[in-house]
Amino acid sequence: MNVEISQSPLPESPTGCGPIRPETENTGSSLRSRVFETVRSAGRISRIDLAKRLSVSPASITALVGELLDLGMLQEQSDTTRTTSRGRPPVALSVQPDAGYVVGIKLSRANHTALLVDAAGQPLAQASLTCTPRRRSVSQMLLETGQVLDALLKQANLERSDIACIGLGMPGMIDHAAGHMVWSPILTEVDLPLRRFAEDAFGVPVAVDNDANLVTLAELWFGKGRAMADFAVVTIEQGVGMGLVINHRLYRGAGSLGMELGHTKVQMDGALCQCGQRGCLEAYIADYALVREASTALDSSHFDTATPEVMLQQLYEQAKAGNEAARVIFRRAGRFLALGLANVVNLFDPPLIILSGERMQYDYLYADDVLREMHALSLNRDAAPQKVETHAWGDLMWAHGAAALALSEIADAMAERRG
Ligand SMILES: [Zn+2]
Repeated sequence: MNVEISQSPLPESPTGCGPIRPETENTGSSLRSRVFETVRSAGRISRIDLAKRLSVSPASITALVGELLDLGMLQEQSDTTRTTSRGRPPVALSVQPDAGYVVGIKLSRANHTALLVDAAGQPLAQASLTCTPRRRSVSQMLLETGQVLDALLKQANLERSDIACIGLGMPGMIDHAAGHMVWSPILTEVDLPLRRFAEDAFGVPVAVDNDANLVTLAELWFGKGRAMADFAVVTIEQGVGMGLVINHRLYRGAGSLGMELGHTKVQMDGALCQCGQRGCLEAYIADYALVREASTALDSSHFDTATPEVMLQQLYEQAKAGNEAARVIFRRAGRFLALGLANVVNLFDPPLIILSGERMQYDYLYADDVLREMHALSLNRDAAPQKVETHAWGDLMWAHGAAALALSEIADAMAERRG
């Protein structure tokens, strides 16, 4: 195994992180918690603007900010580039970065990526671990997770006890609320209390989620989705995933198992899916589905069958070079993708669908005819075509989502802290 460590190349963002929600609604959180979240979301903000944004009297804001300053959650900074009418630099509030550290880890078949961020959401360090692509036991996976975690902490000179929460995401059916792993294509076991196992292993509070939700949280906290009330994310990697944001919040369903777009059926008694059922969308467009088709339809002597990744790349190159059998495989997958996307449009009509994942490099997936076909299969065919964007982000963005998962998990607890 190979641990790569590098300083994060990401620039510091002065514009904050987290969903930019309208603050008129009652979120159920305490006002102090909302003050903290609003400051984090804004990056830097004055007391006056904070009072306006939350529709709260300046006196109340001053009192709540005073508590958060005493607790070391917020800090004051003078903006020396400007002066007020009284000739002093205005004072802005921002999150005290060392108020808490969280780690986000994205686990996948061949690679684990970890990111350390501070309480303001700024990335401090990242590490990744390349491992043998295979299904593994949960104990092996936790061993690998511990390795990438410790490499990350060593780089930042921190201990496990310095971490307020670890956000852990992986493909499969993960019940976030219960902390339960129902099924995952990277694990040999099923039905495990994953969160408890991870907390026992690392001695740190852990939040677990499905990896498509991580990408969606990354968009909601750090990306284009920050200012959007509703949007959908569809991921295509080893499998097909989906995340849905409704009114600035991730929708997970009653048992945290919603939005399994990859396992919606597109064919009765169809192709066998890795979940064990038949006719799932994923069984027609995910990596393993393409590789399965390739090994049947094409002369295997043309292929290095060492890994599915290598095989898929070769299939793509053959399609590009004009091999008709290879082209048909991609075209068919593209049509199934269009069908799946049209179903998303017909169910939710989101103002934006973001396509994400490694497979986006294969341009058949966002080719114009896929989008045309999606539009043709959507009910409202006379309206403007559904807005679809492709964000070909790497594992680091998924790890950002895992960090957002950890930050949102501890947000209330941090702001409710007593001095
Ligand atoms: Zn399935």
